[in-house]
Amino acid sequence: MVHVGIGYDVHPLVEGRRLVLGGVEIPHAKGLEGHSDADALMHALTDAVLGAIGEVDIGHLFPNTDAAWKNAPSRIFLEEAARRVRERGGRIVNVDASLAAEQPKIYPHLAAMKANIAAALGIPPGKVGVKATTNERMGFVGREEGIAAMAVASVDLPE
Ligand code: MG
Repeated sequence: MVHVGIGYDVHPLVEGRRLVLGGVEIPHAKGLEGHSDADALMHALTDAVLGAIGEVDIGHLFPNTDAAWKNAPSRIFLEEAARRVRERGGRIVNVDASLAAEQPKIYPHLAAMKANIAAALGIPPGKVGVKATTNERMGFVGREEGIAAMAVASVDLPE
């Protein structure tokens, strides 16, 4: 039986931080602030996978009060979500995500992001969708105050 999950995440853009999205470090004047590497794309995907199997969200599994996750690569969180799927005898069918960022240009990095996400989930890159859009200069994304990510996951679970 195929189950679906949804995930959403946002992190503020600040000076003096690296910008990491989908496990790719992107050269930019600002980076995302957060306890881990603040990879909003990996976080949204993690919540989508966890949601598909009815688990608690990433913030409860990996609290930002736990020093173990300080500056941690968010690939760890996605790998753990995938491990929980396998633990239930399940299989990730596909994932899809959209990034909302005014700057920088995301397109040149999409292939590398997909490869990283696919590796973390243990699925082929062809089962990973990542798109990017600007916010047409509106709202916090449009003012370049932050970057948002949305994701869905479909997971085949035994009855
Ligand atoms: Mg987050």
